[in-house]
Amino acid sequence: NLGAPDGEGSKKDALLGGLLAPGFDEQSCASRYQSVYYRKNMTRQPSPYLIKRLRDHEALQRRCGPGTEPYIRATERLRSGQQVLDSNDGCNYLVLISYRGLGNRILATTSAFLYAMLTNRVLLVDPGHGDTLPKLFCEPFPGTTWVLPSNFPVTNFRDLEEATPENYANVVLNRSRSVTGLRFVYAFLDHASSQASRLVYCDDHREFLHRVQWMILRTDQYMPPGLFFNPVYREELERMFPRKDSVFYIVSRYLLHPSNEVWGMITRFYNSYLKKADERLGIQIRVFDDKPLQHILDQVLACTSQEHLLPGVESTGGEAPSLPTAAGGRSRSKAVLITCLSSWYHDNIREMYWKSASTDGEVVSVHQPSHEGRQHWYHDEHDMKALAEIYLLSLTDKIVTTGWSTFGYVAHALGGLTPYITVKPENETVPDPPCMRTVSMEPCAFTVPNFDCAKKNFGEYNPPRIPNIRTCEDAFWGVKLT
Ligand code: GDP
Repeated sequence: NLGAPDGEGSKKDALLGGLLAPGFDEQSCASRYQSVYYRKNMTRQPSPYLIKRLRDHEALQRRCGPGTEPYIRATERLRSGQQVLDSNDGCNYLVLISYRGLGNRILATTSAFLYAMLTNRVLLVDPGHGDTLPKLFCEPFPGTTWVLPSNFPVTNFRDLEEATPENYANVVLNRSRSVTGLRFVYAFLDHASSQASRLVYCDDHREFLHRVQWMILRTDQYMPPGLFFNPVYREELERMFPRKDSVFYIVSRYLLHPSNEVWGMITRFYNSYLKKADERLGIQIRVFDDKPLQHILDQVLACTSQEHLLPGVESTGGEAPSLPTAAGGRSRSKAVLITCLSSWYHDNIREMYWKSASTDGEVVSVHQPSHEGRQHWYHDEHDMKALAEIYLLSLTDKIVTTGWSTFGYVAHALGGLTPYITVKPENETVPDPPCMRTVSMEPCAFTVPNFDCAKKNFGEYNPPRIPNIRTCEDAFWGVKLT
């Protein structure tokens, strides 16, 4: 049963004020229609201009997507090795390569979608080894698919590297912007990309790229802050997002709807363990192995204590609890959702509130959906658990996340939550302060052009100063929208 959590209450606007298009079968993607009953009301509204652009983009995806005449023509040309400039049917494509962990992949997908909208390209997402994408997410565009068909003619697209001649940087620097003989252009925006590869952020509509029919993108990053660096994109982005602090929040609500299977995992856990609490606290602990790390546990507890997110416990173990009184005597309850590859942190925190009473009488329950031990790649069930946990974290009221972790970035940004972020400890010592509140709900972007696009002098470290873009709290080389 995928029903709404509380049978009571009035019907809510599942389409979020026009952000989502009508016309989907509700049964095929329950999360699209039910998430509104689990989430808080949206704190940022989509602009009418963005809504218009989304409807236009959906029409483009339908008109040019897989199975259509233009798609068949475009892939035929690609297969036959023809270079395609200036397609006369107005159908250009952006293919996103899927790689790395789920948090990275979600940031990349959201970024690619925004970039596709900005450049009027049809977005096609590589479903990954084992065709994982449809097992995780519903189709976002009505009447078409965003899944890259398995007969995509560039068979080795997942192996493209930075040095490939099709890389944008090579086209600009080594080929004088000539795409003669190339079937597509490749954008390499991996976190380890060179500044030259990041020149793609500086492309504007007067450059050659918009004439190329096929573009293949490799990124594991959150691109929107980098897109704001380009004056051409900035103008359009500002119309779409009058408030820059909620780009991911709004785009993810539009784009990312967990599949029915994942939605079942989310709702069953939520209804069993989180729903009834007066308050929910999420704690994401990103560790790289199963070995217990005392200083990490100490850091998390120092953070929850400093920020008054969790009560302390009585040193003596506390008095025996008083008998429950008649109506009105119930203690306040707090449900803590912990996500981690290891169960050790959860077990310790839960035991702390089991052995001793909380100092303020609050009833603290501690829950962890899974402890997978270590990260797996291309494993459906593992990815589905990770998505369910990211989503559950996003349903909490307050959240502590681990710095540098894209898993944590997605969890807080999806929920519209400004997190308390724990920065990486040095020498196994709890840092002071143990955590800090970030300036906005937006994810941090590690890979931006550290040069002024207007000057195009990419050899010079000269990050432009743009309003509402700040250095990240957990990575001095990263920036975030505020
Ligand atoms: P990052 O490496 O922290 O930036 O996050 P990613 O999501 O990109 O990669 C980490 C991957 O490890 C996740 O996608 C999961 O597969 C796994 N993982 C890490 N932490 C957790 C967790 O708390 N719960 C679950 N279920 N998986 C996790």
